[in-house]
Amino acid sequence: MKIGVLAIQGDYEAHKARLEQLGAKVTLVRKPEQLDAIDGIVIPGGESSTFLNFLAERGFLEKLRDFVSTKPTFGTCAGAILLAKHVENPPQQSLDAMDIRIRRNAYGRQIDSSIREAQSKLGQKPLEMVFIRAPKIVGTGKGVEVLATADGDPVLVRQGKIMAATFHPELSADTRVHQEFVKMVKNGHRRK
Ligand code: GLN
Repeated sequence: MKIGVLAIQGDYEAHKARLEQLGAKVTLVRKPEQLDAIDGIVIPGGESSTFLNFLAERGFLEKLRDFVSTKPTFGTCAGAILLAKHVENPPQQSLDAMDIRIRRNAYGRQIDSSIREAQSKLGQKPLEMVFIRAPKIVGTGKGVEVLATADGDPVLVRQGKIMAATFHPELSADTRVHQEFVKMVKNGHRRK
């Protein structure tokens, strides 16, 4: 089993380190053909519009869209924006994978970065959540399971083989979110 981390931009090294800490084999993905050799992918935070510019080359966007329509995928922050079917502020293209509506940079300047703690479905202990110029999930479709909320907003969601977080679990010591994704890749099947 091999997990890819899209390594175009952003904190992909932190995701790689966390997945390796959990025993996974990790490939940094920079070319579309590398998608053929992995069983799941993490799309990290960064700037979603920059990702889109890069992915526009060499059919990368189409190939990634195909990949995420069948294989386990975890998007954090900008990665979550790329996975959303509907993007606001401003609207932009996406991988059209998850039935959520997401608003970019939704927390404004005052609190554009924050660390919060909230309960989640991943166990008793509250989850630390690091938000950096985070988007807000403003709508979820029927098939979307909310795994955690913060101040009433969904911040960790799952639909089938796709999971998305508006925060950065790779920046906290708690390994539960990545553990959950590793489990999803191992299962390799739709859970819902
Ligand atoms: N603000 C970024 C965007 O709109 C996301 C920020 C992040 O990934 N930390 O794409």
